[in-house]
Amino acid sequence: MTHLLHRAANAVMPVAVAGEGIELIDADGRRYIDASGGAAVSCLGHGHPDVIAALHAQLDRLAYAHTGFFTSEPAEELARLLVAKAPQGLTRAYLVSGGSEAVEAALKMARQHFVEIGQPQRRHVVARRQSYHGNTLGALAAGGNEWRRAQFRPLLIETHHVDPCFAYRFQEPGESDEAYAARAAQAVEDKILELGSDEVMAFVAETVVGATAGAVPPVADYLKRVRAICDRYGVLLILDEVMCGMGRTGTLHACEQDAVSPDLMTIAKGLGGGYQPIGAVLLSEKIFESFARGSGFFQHGHTYMGHPTAAAAAVAVQTVIERDRLLDNVVAMGDRLRRRLEERFGDAPHVGDVRGRGLFVGVEIVEDRAAKTPFDPALKLHAHVKREAMARGLMVYPMGGTVDGVRGDHVLLAPPFIVTETEIDEIVVRLGDAVDAALARAA
Ligand code: PMP
Repeated sequence: MTHLLHRAANAVMPVAVAGEGIELIDADGRRYIDASGGAAVSCLGHGHPDVIAALHAQLDRLAYAHTGFFTSEPAEELARLLVAKAPQGLTRAYLVSGGSEAVEAALKMARQHFVEIGQPQRRHVVARRQSYHGNTLGALAAGGNEWRRAQFRPLLIETHHVDPCFAYRFQEPGESDEAYAARAAQAVEDKILELGSDEVMAFVAETVVGATAGAVPPVADYLKRVRAICDRYGVLLILDEVMCGMGRTGTLHACEQDAVSPDLMTIAKGLGGGYQPIGAVLLSEKIFESFARGSGFFQHGHTYMGHPTAAAAAVAVQTVIERDRLLDNVVAMGDRLRRRLEERFGDAPHVGDVRGRGLFVGVEIVEDRAAKTPFDPALKLHAHVKREAMARGLMVYPMGGTVDGVRGDHVLLAPPFIVTETEIDEIVVRLGDAVDAALARAA
């Protein structure tokens, strides 16, 4: 019997005892290719000697110091490193312990900013359906996945959701990318106007949608249009790059590929690569200045924020990624992964879409490819794919069921940045077999 409450209350899980490169190893010695990086976390794979050495060195010097008393060298160094490479205009870093904490902090920063500058009426948050921003109450309120929200809704602040930019599901046949980008962005403007443009504080979006929809990049120009709309009405743009950021899409920040800079950006997961729990908010000088000139501080804080050991892990992870030019590999292996998936599933009657950017790739499984009709959620096809994949020594991140009426089963792939050509090919072979086996069960 386990005394641990797992996600599934009665789950029987393999016991992970070791990790080597792109593989995890369980107590029976079975190996699993980590083709999802856990949940798009393990960007350097497992057991990276340079990160482990940096962690040992930090632990020998100082494990923890409370930020109410001290700053620390690793936290200062990480902030310096993050700001040096931040999207234009983001000049400060706020270090927390994960993605949800980062989203909570960003929402509170937006609110405090407007209070400090004498616009306390700005209180509404506009966000998007089919999105995920975390499981704490504020982040869950911003998220647009009804399945995650439903039973907690009485506890959530009211946010206002618009449709995401999701070409496979919402672009009309024959509609150009340009026209679709304009239409999807118009939904944001319409919502801001409906709420009262001087009462909205922020628009929140994942640059590339991860957990809820499976690696959905925006069409060209959508985010530029959204940026212009936010500027027009004085609304802050918060980009959530907790999952898609820190190199996962082939550039350090996903929004670089959209030529857009937000006012606030959240990062986590790949920031520390799983070696320690860590997240951050990057913020603009304008927001920082409103705190500095106003009450003098950002009214927030967590016991483990700016954790020296976590910051040291993140510095080491980011240093290795840069030193080994791993983003070049993300681009090359990402191209190969999508190409191989197209070859494997190109004629498959039940694979509707292969999409993504860099090593952040989604495969959507549908009952009818032409009509894009999803399988009955009761079949839990995505769960079968996961089980069949695990049986073949492959970790993939599945999602399915009803998500705001857009039902589809998808599999998210996010292998470590160190993945090789041979390993990419093996991932596709095992995934192909797992999908076939899961479909055979559903038939
Ligand atoms: N935002 C996004 C876009 C995410 O994908 C996630 C995690 N899947 C979160 C926030 C929450 O991060 P965490 O699980 O570290 O709290």
